Amino acid sequence: MNTADLLTITSDDLAITRLGERTVDTPLSDLLGERQETWHYVTETDRVMLDVVQGIANKRDVDVAGLPAFNPGGPRRKLFFEPSEVTAAIVTCGGLCPGLNNVIRGLVLHLGRAYGVKRVLGFRNGFKGLTDGSEPMELTEQSVADIQNRGGTILGTSRGNQDPVVAVDSMVRLGVNILFVIGGDGTLRGASKLADEARARGERIAVVGIPKTIDNDIPWIDRSFGFHTAFAQAAQSIRAAHIEASSTENGVGLVKLMGRHSGFIACYSTLASHDVDFTLIPEVPFDVDVLMSRLKKKVEAQGHAVVVVAEGAGQEHFPASDQTDASGNAKLNDIGALLKKRIIDAFGDEPLSVRYVDPGYEIRSVPANAFDAVYCTRLAQAATHAGMAGFTSMVVGQWSGRMVHLPIALATASRNVVDPHGQLWMNVLETTGQPKQML
Ligand code: ATP
Ligand code: MG
Repeated sequence: MNTADLLTITSDDLAITRLGERTVDTPLSDLLGERQETWHYVTETDRVMLDVVQGIANKRDVDVAGLPAFNPGGPRRKLFFEPSEVTAAIVTCGGLCPGLNNVIRGLVLHLGRAYGVKRVLGFRNGFKGLTDGSEPMELTEQSVADIQNRGGTILGTSRGNQDPVVAVDSMVRLGVNILFVIGGDGTLRGASKLADEARARGERIAVVGIPKTIDNDIPWIDRSFGFHTAFAQAAQSIRAAHIEASSTENGVGLVKLMGRHSGFIACYSTLASHDVDFTLIPEVPFDVDVLMSRLKKKVEAQGHAVVVVAEGAGQEHFPASDQTDASGNAKLNDIGALLKKRIIDAFGDEPLSVRYVDPGYEIRSVPANAFDAVYCTRLAQAATHAGMAGFTSMVVGQWSGRMVHLPIALATASRNVVDPHGQLWMNVLETTGQPKQML
């Protein structure tokens, strides 16, 4: 649909014909429970807005000025920087995620081809490369050729806190005008401090983030890059575990997937494979004894069962610990190993084959699929436009299908989690047939 169509279409055009009155009670209420009733059932007055762009409403004389709206991504007629004089730099931090190289390549190509930027630097090994005095790489069309076909990041990555004062010193010394930061919540908080430090010194350096989280837990964006590739790969692991489990007597496939705080990969790969009997995510607590008794019943009835568990699920079953990684993130206890042991205990002398699959690194390190590759390219283009326009302390992302700018403060203030009363979790419950509560 083009903009002209959006301006002329009416509610009548979108009205749906129906066969007659609806009189039969749905059986779904049994599955959903009381709380979900409020959320899931569509009422007569519910609508999905046709378009989220304020411009359309303005042209139709609808007053939307008071409604919250994002600053849109995309090219500006007027730039802040003179492109031919710009030195841009790129840094990747945190854990690996499919698509990092696609974003790097997208930035280098778009800066050079669309804006004629002559100098693009790549800091090595995360923020460490801004403070350890190492020389950055010169990124050119040649040096980024074919990197989209490789997983990981050609720039390297790291954890551990770095001094923003030293980092800004490096950028000033190298004449960096725009820093593109590709990383997760920790990285973006770091990026925000770099932008603050530069501003405090009166240095005109734009800091633009491209949020990276394989868990899809950045708020206010439709999805993060690499997520699509990750759950597609996770679905392959589920497929393997299901084949193993269903080929053995009392086979139990147990698959541990990523998801420290948010179970999106577990949910989406469950929906993609339709072979999972129990999906366990951090957002929905469960009792291990209840799970075991349900699992035994399932194996009795079906001959096998598949359990998918997100790494952050069931952390309440471990003693509290204050262990952290170099960046200060809490270390997770191994819920997969605990469940494997409890399954073996639960079956006792009965026949049992547990197939435990932990594909974390295999998923993180694959190259982006075509769908994510497109998204990475679009994010890189939006980030380039934002940087050239002089926007800073912000990230790019897609919201309701549109590229938008999001302040880093907002992107790091909360986390995108699976709503236990929301539609996605309901879809999972409908797919696995697991009870809505295992407590
Ligand atoms: P992921 O969680 O996906 O691994 P991340 O970006 O959150 O990605 P971290 O290891 O937490 O990964 O952080 C990456 C870098 O960001 C670290 O090297 C650290 O220097 C910096 N960083 C993390 N948290 C902060 C913070 N609160 N303030 C400043 N810098 C931070
Ligand atoms: Mg993080």
